[in-house]
Amino acid sequence: MIARIAIDGAASGRLFDYAVPEELAGGCAVGSRVRVHFGRRAVLGYVVELAGESDYLAARQGDDSSTPDSDGLLLDIAPDMPKPSLKPIEAVDGDGPVILPPLMRLARWMAQYYMAPVERCIQALLPAPVRSGRSREMVRLYVEAVPEEPDAVPSETPDNGRDDAQFSQLAVPAAPPKLTKRQAELVADIRRVGGGWLQQVVSEFKCTAETLRRLQKLGAVTIEERQRRRDPFANRRVLPSKPLPLNDDQARALRTVLDGVVQEDDPASPPPKPLLLFGVTGSGKTEVYLQAIAAVLERGKGAIVLVPEIALTPQTVQRFASRFGDRIAVLHSALGDGERFDEWQRIRSGKARVVVGPRSAVFAPVENLGLIVVDEEHEPSYKQDESPRYNARDVAVMRAHIEHCAIVLGSATPALESWRNAKTGKYAVARLARRAAEDAVMPLVHIVDMRRETAESGQPRLFSKALLDAIRQRLDRGEQTLLFLNRRGYSTSLVCPSCGYVATCGACDVAYTYHRHDDCLRCHICGDWRRVAARCPECGDPQYKCLGTGTQRIEQIVSTCFPRARIARMDADSTSRKMSHDDILSAFKSGKTDILIGTQMIAKGLHFPNVTLVGIVMADSSLHIPDFRAGERTFQLLAQVAGRTGRGAIAGEVYVQTYTPEHPAVQMARTENFEGFADGELEIRRELNYPPFCHLTCLTLSGPDESAVAALLERIAEAVRGGADASVIVSEVVPASLPKANNQCRYQLLLRAPATSRILPPLSAALAANHVPDAMRLSVDVDALSLF
Ligand code: ADP
Ligand code: ZN
Repeated sequence: MIARIAIDGAASGRLFDYAVPEELAGGCAVGSRVRVHFGRRAVLGYVVELAGESDYLAARQGDDSSTPDSDGLLLDIAPDMPKPSLKPIEAVDGDGPVILPPLMRLARWMAQYYMAPVERCIQALLPAPVRSGRSREMVRLYVEAVPEEPDAVPSETPDNGRDDAQFSQLAVPAAPPKLTKRQAELVADIRRVGGGWLQQVVSEFKCTAETLRRLQKLGAVTIEERQRRRDPFANRRVLPSKPLPLNDDQARALRTVLDGVVQEDDPASPPPKPLLLFGVTGSGKTEVYLQAIAAVLERGKGAIVLVPEIALTPQTVQRFASRFGDRIAVLHSALGDGERFDEWQRIRSGKARVVVGPRSAVFAPVENLGLIVVDEEHEPSYKQDESPRYNARDVAVMRAHIEHCAIVLGSATPALESWRNAKTGKYAVARLARRAAEDAVMPLVHIVDMRRETAESGQPRLFSKALLDAIRQRLDRGEQTLLFLNRRGYSTSLVCPSCGYVATCGACDVAYTYHRHDDCLRCHICGDWRRVAARCPECGDPQYKCLGTGTQRIEQIVSTCFPRARIARMDADSTSRKMSHDDILSAFKSGKTDILIGTQMIAKGLHFPNVTLVGIVMADSSLHIPDFRAGERTFQLLAQVAGRTGRGAIAGEVYVQTYTPEHPAVQMARTENFEGFADGELEIRRELNYPPFCHLTCLTLSGPDESAVAALLERIAEAVRGGADASVIVSEVVPASLPKANNQCRYQLLLRAPATSRILPPLSAALAANHVPDAMRLSVDVDALSLF
């Protein structure tokens, strides 16, 4: 028997044949992790396929070229081998395959569809701590100062409010140590905070691990291996919740989901159709998911729920945890390596049967999968922005197909791709047209024409009188306001009000972003920064700096207008400092804040019963980006934000300030009229032949030498034109919307076709014939969502 192996950490896109020794044959299966020699190196690899004989060796009888197998992967044998014999597998790791067979199939499909090396796709299946295979990751080192009394013994249960810890003592000191001043200070600091994980101590007190080891030798601190039960819910009390009685729409939707779940048990029937759950914000989609999952668990099956990372708030997690208790595993980016490892093990061992997480959770090793839910399926954050550039929603549809299981895509504003699939009958549809909570009503939406405001006040303003009045009213009544700036990018650059000068990063050709908290300009591409001049460098106007930026500027204006209001701001800048995301939101939820100002971060999946006013300060700022999806994104954002109000007993009001009140994305979002918007938008897309009427692949080539980059991409375009059938549209090679980054020039080529399968063969051939030199980088983005 031979095994086809993908080498861990490589990106060659090749599988290599190895012999499976007799004594390992029993434990070696598809998905097993194995140790092999590759050249002279000992490496880890994954068994992708088992076969009776090596195609490579068979093909080697005559010629010497690699043969593509059925999946288009190149087969080869490990280098350095006297042909025609194969190197053996040396050992098989652990018991049982690390990768479940359907997931291995999924990885191979991704490799082919997204034109990504198969090794990368396998890598994407496994969280880093699992892939590294080191159980040492599970153990952390805990540092504590030795008690001050010389003869005291360190406490056996040094509990800092942390969970049930087991630990083994490594060093117990005897005599009072002699320390330098600096060392003594450090020990005092550690004592003051009651000790901490080694990594924390190192970063908190700006010392090194060596210093701590020295202190350990001196007997001033203890460093112990301590294994804690790393439970993301350890500090949260979750009260169980009961299923709500469903309204008619919800009951119908649930029945449709469960029809699919029943159908999946019948191997003779086709896999269930994906179901688009199209329900306005607050219509009770989540309750449908919860009850569908409960039914799936009852049948002994598991479920995966994908949510956008941004919506993975304690509120969301709590709703699932309160229904399913410790049967759920939560995967999110804030988990440490150890926690991630533990959660993965709980899923793999079957202890956790419901997985909630962002895009990578689509690869969770749930066996006997009964249902996948993709909430907010239109979210661009489901797309991975590095190789493999997969869209988790589409991968989820493929996984459901492979596993013959039901899948629900939920949204109030479906992606036009999904909407079209529903219209053509590829997907089934269930609708929830009304808000579910008895007393909830749709908000009253006012569109404020800012052109008129400007004309009346004689100068452009950020706030209309109507919106300011509405805020004042809320403050008087003790109700809350959300102020929303459409995307962080707006006006974060400093523009001189007199001459229009904009400070720009020379290496990247983009405007610097102004950061008020440290008063400097930063390039968000390369990280370069500089201090802000007090006056405009061009004309000397001292007003230069006073204008400030997007959310910060709004905060300033609001606090000037309403000096007694309690105001908080939440955007990517504010949340990386002092107060976390969660802190800001809980303060708002508990009524400690009157006005919350934010970017799209506050637009998703949150429940604020006392919010009765939402102001969208600049509704147009996402309309004017060079992307054919600008209208769709604007509609989605406006509808989502409007959906934040009126969730409690009080009717909500929304003010949309805009310079283009007639734009359909603005008009239709007013009444959450998705269908009206989609109909118009689809007409335009059809006419221009954009997705969803075609599949689009975006090639970006970058390198230091502009003309070389343009010339090579030109040759690739020419080769694709030559090899493709008439249905493939090859655009002109153009500078990318971000033409320069990190001193690299970037060019772009768009390929469109009715199906990606028409694009990939001529593209592979074109790339094989036109080698990309080491100085350049090519990214191939299949089903690209962003053209930047
Ligand atoms: P969506 O996920 O569609 O935005 P949610 O599931 O968050 O909607 O529901 C919105 C609100 O309606 C929640 O407060 C939820 O508890 C409530 N709700 C959902 N279903 C029902 C129901 N059948 N009866 C009463 N309230 C419901
Ligand atoms: Zn830069």
